[in-house]
Amino acid sequence: MPIDAACHTDRGLRANNEDAAHVDAALGFALLADGLGGPPGGEVASALAVDAAARVLRRALSGAPDPDLAAEALREAFDAAQEEIRRRALATPELRGMGTTLVTVVVTGARYVVAHVGDSRAYLVRAGHATALTSDHSWVQERVAAGLLTPEEARVHAYRNLVTRALGLDASAHPDVGHGALEPGDVVLLTSDGVHGVLSDRLIAELARGRAPEAAARALVEGALGAGGSDNATAAVLRLRREPLNLETRDS
Ligand code: MN
Repeated sequence: MPIDAACHTDRGLRANNEDAAHVDAALGFALLADGLGGPPGGEVASALAVDAAARVLRRALSGAPDPDLAAEALREAFDAAQEEIRRRALATPELRGMGTTLVTVVVTGARYVVAHVGDSRAYLVRAGHATALTSDHSWVQERVAAGLLTPEEARVHAYRNLVTRALGLDASAHPDVGHGALEPGDVVLLTSDGVHGVLSDRLIAELARGRAPEAAARALVEGALGAGGSDNATAAVLRLRREPLNLETRDS
């Protein structure tokens, strides 16, 4: 299925933008990384992760692979990102503690394959509803899953930024990988917590629906910052085109 894609980012009220994103409409993939605050080098880690993973995906996806091969390519992409960060951290003492989240989606045929570590998310927006395709690797999400916090409490919790899995020297790079079916008109979007930490799923669906990817990505980022978000805010949007009307012309 043909795809349109775009991404948009804004540093919000922060001095640096430690988010990074990239989309490839032709090959049908998107990536988004959010460098961990606290240790220095968040913006280095997120840029390295996106670049290294994109390099693997460009090579692996050029033959329009089936979903199993796409999942394999995503695992390889996460390994490459982790290795790149590890190498740079070992070579640069002041960057030793750097880390990043990474979420990626590949659309192949009428299916998506999603992989992530950390608390950056993938959503499927269909018929005006946004459904999360990922479950955050975060301190608060573990407590939501155990019934100890509600999603509303998690959104404003003092520890909401604590991720339990990330790419980095001392971190486990192992991604969760999931897949599912897509329909024409579906939108798959990736967001950093600067977006989904501020906007409800309902608002995310509202801002994404009926807009081309470029406008949708911008609306999500500006919506988050306009709603009081102060973190770096980033969105990457893939939209599956609806089949055009069959206007095939015949030579007479
Ligand atoms: Mn963030």
